[in-house]
Amino acid sequence: MFRQAKAALRKLRHIRFSGQQHTWRLKSTSARDRALQYKPGEQIHGFTVREVVAVPDLFLTAVKLTHDKTGARYLHAARDDSNNLFSVQFRTTPMDSTGVPHILEHTVLCGSEKYPCRDPFFKMLNRSLSTFMNAFTASDYTMYPFSTQNGKDFQNLLSVYLDAVFFPCLRELDFWQEGWRLENETPTDPSTPLVFKGVVFNEMKGAFSDNECVYAQHLQNKLYPDHTYSVVSGGEPLAIPDLTWEQLKQFHATHYHPSNARFFTYGDLPLEQHLKQIEEEALSRFDRIDPNTEVPSQSHWSSPVSS
Ligand SMILES: [Zn+2]
Repeated sequence: MFRQAKAALRKLRHIRFSGQQHTWRLKSTSARDRALQYKPGEQIHGFTVREVVAVPDLFLTAVKLTHDKTGARYLHAARDDSNNLFSVQFRTTPMDSTGVPHILEHTVLCGSEKYPCRDPFFKMLNRSLSTFMNAFTASDYTMYPFSTQNGKDFQNLLSVYLDAVFFPCLRELDFWQEGWRLENETPTDPSTPLVFKGVVFNEMKGAFSDNECVYAQHLQNKLYPDHTYSVVSGGEPLAIPDLTWEQLKQFHATHYHPSNARFFTYGDLPLEQHLKQIEEEALSRFDRIDPNTEVPSQSHWSSPVSS
């Protein structure tokens, strides 16, 4: 019953929204054309336009910018598509297999300065009109994307995402929950054996029980043995308990900084509004650092290697 009412409400909202979109579109020039008006060197809300390129094959205009104070890089793809997307990503280059970027990806979503409630990210899942929300950890980057067709929803989600990545609480209890901890097998019974627990710890035990995953991970580690690709960014279950809460906070301070960030937006919402909100709610509070996260090329092998 409740579900039916909810579905009907959603439909109504959608109809009203589509109507507004239609009128707005008739009155204005296309997002692509508006973006073509930007000129290299132009300054907008703390950013400088570097390059404006029409990409007719993809029906979009690409605008490249950099943030003056921090050096953060920004790419906007203006396209007449109401499914607007935002993503912020950081180059995360761990040098051990404790899974620090993966545990950090989980922990920043557990509460932030402006949204100190429990799991603001997951609370948005059922109160937002988003068409996509997630976060990913790869070998050398961590990204936080979302998409939505509603302008106000975009601003709300942007606010939650910016606060999560730049000003997370990173509480010790969150680290124990998401990373690893020792706990009695039955928490209410102290006579049961102590076992390792933790969301990422268990996730990675699951991942490493899959043959294909083990093969792909080892192949990458052995092919690129000299830098970050030689370790398990998601976390090797045997190494995860080596990570401390302090190390997690340190990794955040050095990697989740605007100077180590790339922003990406896509769709028909005006770029100025995005830049203004990102500058006011996050970037204006930072200065430039040298993140030193470049990954050097793997030197060529001179003879066959076996392991
Ligand atoms: Zn995970």
